[in-house]
Amino acid sequence: MIILVLNCGSSSLKYQVLDMKGDNDYSLLAKGLVERIGDKVGILTHQVTGSDKYKIEKPIPDHTEGIKSVLNLLTDSQHGVLKSLKDIDAVGHRVAHGGEYFFCSVAVNEDVISKIEKCCELAPLHNPANLLGIRAVENLMPGTPQVAVFDTSFHQTMPDYAYMYAIPYEYYDKYKIRRYGFHGTSHKYVAQKACDFTGMDIDKSKIITCHLGNGSSITAVKNGKSVDTSMGFTPVEGVAMGTRCGNIDAGVITFLEEKEHLNASGINALLNKKSGLLGVSELSSDCRDIEEGAASGNAKAALAQEMLYYGIKKYIGSYAAAMGGLDMIVFTGGIGENSSITREQVCEGLEFLGVDFDKDANRGVRGKDAILTKKGSKVTVVAITTNEELVIARDTMNIVKK
Ligand code: ADP
Repeated sequence: MIILVLNCGSSSLKYQVLDMKGDNDYSLLAKGLVERIGDKVGILTHQVTGSDKYKIEKPIPDHTEGIKSVLNLLTDSQHGVLKSLKDIDAVGHRVAHGGEYFFCSVAVNEDVISKIEKCCELAPLHNPANLLGIRAVENLMPGTPQVAVFDTSFHQTMPDYAYMYAIPYEYYDKYKIRRYGFHGTSHKYVAQKACDFTGMDIDKSKIITCHLGNGSSITAVKNGKSVDTSMGFTPVEGVAMGTRCGNIDAGVITFLEEKEHLNASGINALLNKKSGLLGVSELSSDCRDIEEGAASGNAKAALAQEMLYYGIKKYIGSYAAAMGGLDMIVFTGGIGENSSITREQVCEGLEFLGVDFDKDANRGVRGKDAILTKKGSKVTVVAITTNEELVIARDTMNIVKK
């Protein structure tokens, strides 16, 4: 089954075309990225598996035009991988926010679309773009089944005492303010993959998954279900990220509003775009630059790094307490998969939890699955590569087959 996976952002869209034969039997045919949708000049970077990247620069006024360009390329005699659009059996969309409506991936119909619309208020940058993608596919490939896969749905199993904020209850009733969590597709995927990799039974396991990338979140997965997660109502909560501040005393916000004369959008930009590793280091939001800076004596980069490690460590401690024990820690995402120093520093001092970290095994592990603890360690630590597009393609295949 040929599946087109679409991840539409506000001014960009990523795509992959996968030939799915089974959950673990698949091949990636092509992938790419459309950037600067709506700008004077848009950029489409397309890559057929095994070939060099091919780049087109031209105006791409909206998502429909962006998807049209992608579909043209996919069926192009020189750069394509399909004979005709009819070869695409289904389209899977990454949808940022499913609110309290969606516990799992679903086939798209008008009811689903109207619920995704209702969640636009909760994800104003992402859900409208996701809907544009769904409507564009409807127009360009009428009748092709579409599936929505939500970033939030895996976390819908959290108990109320974990997802509620201690603000007046009326704001939950009125605005649905609560913790939703994000990166659910990745957390679910790596928890299962880590269990398959180590032979652990997910139904009898207490796992902490650390998805560490530009955006980072940490999830407590008990018996295969998300019971708590560090991102909240928005992706700004949790550990320090590339440019997001993570946890902060809410009082700082009202203080800065007054002192710096900031309105809501100023505060939003401050917390989401100017904080985190970038804000503290005054150097970069990129973990590699921070590591280099710290290694060459930049004190602020070193501080940003320490704050990140310490923040992750505290989540591990609190989630182990929340679950009443711990069997496995999983590192994934650009930082989790590639940064051995992050994994080592986070795990340092966790011996009391039963972590017998193997520094030698950890060193040099980049972009591959590996066990990072010594034989006999009570808690297993692993690096696991994530693949959100594969999960979207799998869910799409399985739902369409049904
Ligand atoms: P996103 O959240 O946008 O999907 P990624 O998961 O790709 O981001 O993660 C990007 C982060 O991963 C960046 O901070 C980058 O510096 C970091 N990263 C990638 N490779 C390495 C590496 N070899 N060492 C340390 N950090 C890395």
